[in-house]
Amino acid sequence: MYDALTSRYTFACPVRGETRVTLSSFRELERLAGAAHPAVYRVRFACACGSEHLGLVADDELDWAPLGLQDGRYLNLMTGRLDEVAGELAELAVRRIEAGEWPWSFFCYPEERPRPVFPSSFLVLTPGDGTVGVAVRCPACVRTSVNLVSTSHVDVPFWNDPEVGVVEHVFSEDVARTVEEFRAELYSSRFDARRVGLE
Ligand SMILES: [Zn+2]
Ligand SMILES: [Zn+2]
Repeated sequence: MYDALTSRYTFACPVRGETRVTLSSFRELERLAGAAHPAVYRVRFACACGSEHLGLVADDELDWAPLGLQDGRYLNLMTGRLDEVAGELAELAVRRIEAGEWPWSFFCYPEERPRPVFPSSFLVLTPGDGTVGVAVRCPACVRTSVNLVSTSHVDVPFWNDPEVGVVEHVFSEDVARTVEEFRAELYSSRFDARRVGLE
């Protein structure tokens, strides 16, 4: 379902039969209750046909497949520890993580610091002019921050913008309200630049 060579996910499209979209074409991610191994996310995505559709993605497809890691293998982003990896892409990913690089990062506003993150922590994405606004639930403090980043920052693992825009707003715990606040903040507020380089 994820093609690492083109960095695209394959979903069903009612018009085209099948469509391939980048991560930055995702609009909303919602973890479904129940399934835990793997966790399953319902994704609303913008399709090339002009409509938005719903699709399902397992957490390993979201988080590991872009790194060349298959299911059943475990990578702990917080410690960089990884078990049982095969494949060149995966080995390269491991080397970069061991060197202190992170596949994805964002700036946590409540904590005032950059954090490593996985795509499964993205809640809402809204496209701008070559940019994308991303609401991220912080894996460390579980609060939501909104960053304005390049599409490559989202789509290309290990591509991290030197600086990202940060909305200076603490979002509510409730996801539905967070989404509303996200939209309001994105269109009304200034983004303050923060360095997102992780040391
Ligand atoms: Zn479509
Ligand atoms: Zn945080």
